[in-house]
Amino acid sequence: MSTDTVTHQPFQAEVRQLLDIVINSLYTDREIFVRELVSNAADSLEKLRHLRLTEPSVFESEKEPEIEITSDAEAKTLTITDYGIGMTREELIRNLGTIAHSGTKAFLQNLEAGAQAAGNVIGRFGVGFYSVFMVADRVEVFTHSWREDGESLLWTSDGRGGFDVAEAPGQHRGCRIVIHLKEEHAEFAAKGRVKTILERYSNFVPFPILLDGERVNNVEALWLKKKSEVTDEQYNEFYKFIAHAWDEPRYRLHFSADAPLVINSLLFIPQENPERYGMGQMEPGVALYCRRVLIDPKPRGLLPEWLRFAKGVIDSDDLPLNISRESMQDSALVQKLGDVLTKRLIKMLEGEARDNAEKYNDFYKAFSRFLKEGVAVDDRHRAALSKLLRFESSLTEPGVLTGFDEYLSRAKDGQKDIYFLIAPSRAAIEAGPYLEAFKARGLEVIYLFEPIDEYVVSSLSEVEGKRLVSAASDDLDLGDAPPTEGESLTEEQTKEICEWLKETLGDSVESVRAGSRLVSSPAVALQPEGQVSPQMRAMMKAMNQDFGGGAKVVLEINPRHNLIRKLALRGKKNDELAPLIAEQIRDNALIAAGLLDSPTGMLARMEKVLAAAL
Ligand code: ADP
Repeated sequence: MSTDTVTHQPFQAEVRQLLDIVINSLYTDREIFVRELVSNAADSLEKLRHLRLTEPSVFESEKEPEIEITSDAEAKTLTITDYGIGMTREELIRNLGTIAHSGTKAFLQNLEAGAQAAGNVIGRFGVGFYSVFMVADRVEVFTHSWREDGESLLWTSDGRGGFDVAEAPGQHRGCRIVIHLKEEHAEFAAKGRVKTILERYSNFVPFPILLDGERVNNVEALWLKKKSEVTDEQYNEFYKFIAHAWDEPRYRLHFSADAPLVINSLLFIPQENPERYGMGQMEPGVALYCRRVLIDPKPRGLLPEWLRFAKGVIDSDDLPLNISRESMQDSALVQKLGDVLTKRLIKMLEGEARDNAEKYNDFYKAFSRFLKEGVAVDDRHRAALSKLLRFESSLTEPGVLTGFDEYLSRAKDGQKDIYFLIAPSRAAIEAGPYLEAFKARGLEVIYLFEPIDEYVVSSLSEVEGKRLVSAASDDLDLGDAPPTEGESLTEEQTKEICEWLKETLGDSVESVRAGSRLVSSPAVALQPEGQVSPQMRAMMKAMNQDFGGGAKVVLEINPRHNLIRKLALRGKKNDELAPLIAEQIRDNALIAAGLLDSPTGMLARMEKVLAAAL
């Protein structure tokens, strides 16, 4: 190797940042570097297997598809060799000098945003090749690409500023990675230690792994076995491998069918939802296989996007082996496969919710976002998914969840609709003016607290044939008035005060009418059909969007309320005060509805009213 063939390159800034974290922080699970490098080796062998289907000439095509690991305790080195696709000079520079992986970028951003405990996060999610610098002070990557005209190359780095690439004649196809361990991490050159790590993380790698010549993994496609032949430990171990997880799954679904499609699948639902930690949108986690051969580890278009939290394997004999990733997305067969599995998974969750509500609710708290996303966007599974939704309501204790089935079983005879209210909290809903009419009639109202719920209810629109209606809507027939205390205005007086109010308030309200829904409030602002809700308005305002002027509401007054009665019978003759009071009644209703855009006019008005009251 002559020095004039050596080129030195600095790492991309993000890589330097990552390496800095990797090298200088304290980690509890440094051993995961073995998992990361072995899975890179397996990926490379998998890619070669695919390539073989279309490429007539492959460099050293006779090499076995296996991963060889040798430990040398004396030299303090660990060497990982694969006869996979290898890398060209440009690939070396791009793959081992920059970060393309979106997950890794998100990881960095997350750290910048002040997340601590980087060590644990690395163990859970991995940072790929660069994790080797947790234990190494020098790494050599010897490689030759699968291309016949590729160069024999050596990439070296100490993981600090940059790396060197040089010619290194006589390399086999694939990669040989020589890890020079730091003094304090020499343990990773001990055969026993490495063996334990491999058994833990790499047991299902679908290629033989040889440690110092001895086979360590036993490749078993669990999903092809009968349920009765698989133990819980085996399932969990398999889950940890495919999901790169450290914990045990919440649920699993081992499902096989022979007709109309041959399907063997094993799906899991994890404990944690990483999107909750701001890790960015997850990639699909259910790999697609055909007769044990991996087609795509992260297939888009197999399961619906909202199911990206599921992990596992779907294997079908009916898929053509050489199906390309591009054509896969359009394949009717793939869509059908995804459909069958989605339905089974929903059914499984429904059963779990029924059999162990507490466990299910715990799952729901961590993963409800995905189910709601599904309801909002997935036409095919919306109805089935609605059975999985949970929420608090006016009849539950705070924090206790219920579902549509239970709601409907409690519904009153003849109740036409399902009622809901969306607000940031239970307290906000219960302090508002909308609930009282429903409480007085014993009607249950569903409480929704998240902005996404807006989309959920508008896309669902009905459940089991019953409309989903906002309790703040003006289009509601709640039937008979509840028994009320105190006198009411007469019909004539009511009509008159409504007309006077509309005249006085002008265009600031859509209309004024009397209603039977109010019990203890003087007036309430109702949302006319088709108008954006207060939550949506707030979101649009936050995004600086125009939503066509102020909110126009239907003002419903309570002809039994003292204030309304006084205003109707005496007050409205007071030319100076009456209009101010009318405006204040309207603004109070807007505040309660979360619809008052600016309180400035209100203050001057209040001062006048107060002065008059003295
Ligand atoms: P990831 O595997 O998540 O993409 P890594 O940092 O582990 O990220 O690896 C970066 C890239 O380097 C891989 O995507 C791959 O293209 C390349 N690479 C790593 N190891 C090997 C290998 N043993 N053989 C061929 N290419 C490899």
